[in-house]
Amino acid sequence: MTLRLHNSLTGTKDVFEPLEDSHVRMYTCGPTVWNFAHIGNLRAFLFYDLLRRHLQVAGYRVTHVMNITDIDDRILDQAMHAGTTIAEYTKPYAEAFFEDMKMLRVRPAEHYPRATEHIQEMIRMISTLLERGNAYVADGDVYFRIASFPHYGELSHLDREGLRAGARVAADKYDKESVSDFALWKKAQPGDEKIGAAWDAPFGKGRPGWHIECSAMSKRYLGDTLDIHAGGVDLMFPHHENEIAQSEAANQRQLSRFWLHSEHLADATGEKMSKSAGGFTTLRDLIAAGHDPLAIRLFLIANAHYRSRLRLSEESLHAAGEQVRRLQDFARRLKLPVAPKDGGRLAERVAEVRHAYREALDDDLNLPQGLGHVFELLREANAALDSGEVGEAAARELLLLMADVDAHADVSAAQDTTLAAEVEQLIAQREAARKARDFAAADRIRDELRDRGIALEDSKEGVRWRRVAKV
Ligand SMILES: [Zn+2]
Repeated sequence: MTLRLHNSLTGTKDVFEPLEDSHVRMYTCGPTVWNFAHIGNLRAFLFYDLLRRHLQVAGYRVTHVMNITDIDDRILDQAMHAGTTIAEYTKPYAEAFFEDMKMLRVRPAEHYPRATEHIQEMIRMISTLLERGNAYVADGDVYFRIASFPHYGELSHLDREGLRAGARVAADKYDKESVSDFALWKKAQPGDEKIGAAWDAPFGKGRPGWHIECSAMSKRYLGDTLDIHAGGVDLMFPHHENEIAQSEAANQRQLSRFWLHSEHLADATGEKMSKSAGGFTTLRDLIAAGHDPLAIRLFLIANAHYRSRLRLSEESLHAAGEQVRRLQDFARRLKLPVAPKDGGRLAERVAEVRHAYREALDDDLNLPQGLGHVFELLREANAALDSGEVGEAAARELLLLMADVDAHADVSAAQDTTLAAEVEQLIAQREAARKARDFAAADRIRDELRDRGIALEDSKEGVRWRRVAKV
């Protein structure tokens, strides 16, 4: 089957294939840990999870990097007010982010690099940009010279004239050659050093701008050219344009072949929800209001396609909770003994729905459409179970269908399936290492699993795992 993804660079759904055979290198913009994650940001993080899961379903090994922004103006302000360092200030919010991801059953990325731990990589890239004439120093700050990069604006299809007059850039009050030039490095201000927010650099003591961290960290973990870069649509300009300008000017290579953007989450009135607009809702708020994290998960990934606006409302969260219950009830019913033989042609129908479900996901991750087919079928299947017409063949197909659905939605098991997902992923990595004859790596993964109380067995159907007592 062919996977098509909507690429913001081309504006069309393009056939996806990675540069490296069967391996996808993917970078997604992560949270700024100045506070709890806002529910609008969670929509983007769950979109990354859906993308990652479907790439795995499509048979790819995925190396996924997501940055943790632990330095920015808000963090500096808050740390200064609290009389603490930025490291101390951000710690609980970074931990809360990982707790949120766990509650929402987001599969972990391979790397979560923190900006403050990659300052040297950023300094190196800024030095390269200075040497190449793509950047300049002005009163201790370093700026990227947009006039030196003719492709600026191609991702968001901006015209450069309009860009110069943009309100967002006009609000800046620095010593720049052009209003649209953006900061790569900001000169240290009094007090920055005391809160751990100033670093030595050849171009003066200071701290990095926000954009350069993604360029430097994606290069560090994934190389010059990514297969996929994803983010919320609000990051397309200026953040992603700036990332492209920095990386492509410094590396002389395309930064990413595919750019994917998820739409906003809107409130009940249709306004974009954001911290600055005062509509500050966190996962904790919704759980405290009585919503099941799995309902929130399903709502965020399946109520609307990721490129459509989604409205948060009590009603839609309740409806998602109802869908979670239907999937869980059905999964429970399938565990009961089946009828002696199949009645009707349910098995064939399920196979058709499995095919349609996969096609919907391959069509730019259309999970809402895929689940639409599934819920329609559940009505028929429940009726067949009621009348004792689900024999072995239909039951087998239904179990396969539920496994397909859980590969993305992952809500039909009330217990946590994160462990299972992690183990499956390590097994896949071990298989890949064995294929590449990297037996040391394969053994390392087996040992790591054994330390966690997981034993592997080779069988005809592939590698199986079971829990054993921890060594
Ligand atoms: Zn970024």
